[in-house]
Amino acid sequence: MNKFKKTSLILTALLASSSALASPADWQKVKRPIPSENGVSQPIGSYSNGCIIGAKPLPAKGAGYQVIRMNKNRYYGHPDMISYLQRLGQKVQNSGMPTMLVGDIAMPGGGRFLTGHASHQMGLDADIWLRMGAMSDQDALNSDGKGLLVVNRAAQRVDDNIWNQNHFNLIKLAAQDNQVARIFVNPAIKVKLCQSERADRSWLHKIRPWYGHDSHFHVRLTCPHGAQYCEDQAPVPAGDGCGAELYSWFEPKKPSATPTQPAARPPEPFLCQQVLNSPKRSEWLE
Ligand SMILES: [Zn+2]
Repeated sequence: MNKFKKTSLILTALLASSSALASPADWQKVKRPIPSENGVSQPIGSYSNGCIIGAKPLPAKGAGYQVIRMNKNRYYGHPDMISYLQRLGQKVQNSGMPTMLVGDIAMPGGGRFLTGHASHQMGLDADIWLRMGAMSDQDALNSDGKGLLVVNRAAQRVDDNIWNQNHFNLIKLAAQDNQVARIFVNPAIKVKLCQSERADRSWLHKIRPWYGHDSHFHVRLTCPHGAQYCEDQAPVPAGDGCGAELYSWFEPKKPSATPTQPAARPPEPFLCQQVLNSPKRSEWLE
């Protein structure tokens, strides 16, 4: 209760007196970032069940990067994520790599997507495509079907006819930033990274094997300093993660080749429900 009391000081005008629960589907209707009363962006909840107040849009183009899937309106994030992506784009440009394509970050108020992944809810997750090089504005608007698959799914190996040094360099650059907590890639990609890195293995522990993620990788930042309503995940295990745990992904039974059915979804954080029910909601809803 204390937490909520403190927040009501920050967000007084946002909070609703109504106790009616809005539907999680309502996050799709949030068309503009929810303004923060004190100018401080607040990620609330967890990566897979949360929302964000005071998100910022990533400009459509910048040094070394381009936003794609623009028609999905998922290019909003915490200011830390926006500056991380701009910083990474600058490094990509400086190292002479092709333009980095940035896919989903979060919706303007965060929350759960109706389609696609369960996380990306607090503006601290972003997808970066393994296809590289600038797209036409038309393709950037609607990018469905334009990804590049780098894994031979039948063989469960990276396809060496497609994989190249830029893929390795981009993921390594992305992981080396101090604000990055985890990067999710297909297990076959992690194997490739483990085999390719000869010298500095310090960044490999952040690379986490996960289902899918064979045409993009997913960057997750740590909760920003002082973000009191943001729940960090447990730190990644020690070591480079290139051993038995990684190879267990290729065993026939465990972990299962298909994700297990998730348990009933927990309720959204109280503050996120309040945002959806706020008397000021017409300011950000469509
Ligand atoms: Zn993702």
